[in-house]
Amino acid sequence: MGDIEKLKITIDRDECIGDSLCCNEAPETFEMDDEDKAVVLETSTDDRDTILEAARSCPVDAITIEDKSTGEKLCPED
Ligand code: SF4
Repeated sequence: MGDIEKLKITIDRDECIGDSLCCNEAPETFEMDDEDKAVVLETSTDDRDTILEAARSCPVDAITIEDKSTGEKLCPED
């Protein structure tokens, strides 16, 4: 069982430059759609750290992640 249901993940499609870095880091959590923009796979079984590391690898900070239970913003880091 992964941690994705504990996280609120948002991808800014206008910011995404389609370089697939997040998909390479966590292919169970992110994939590219037919417009070359990253999308979230709600079926992910990745753990929290894997998801966060992948999101933090985004060069344009297009991925925002919040902890659903606390509302804490986990990515991007300030
Ligand atoms: S790492 Fe960022 S820019 Fe690259 S595909 Fe993922 S969301 Fe888009």
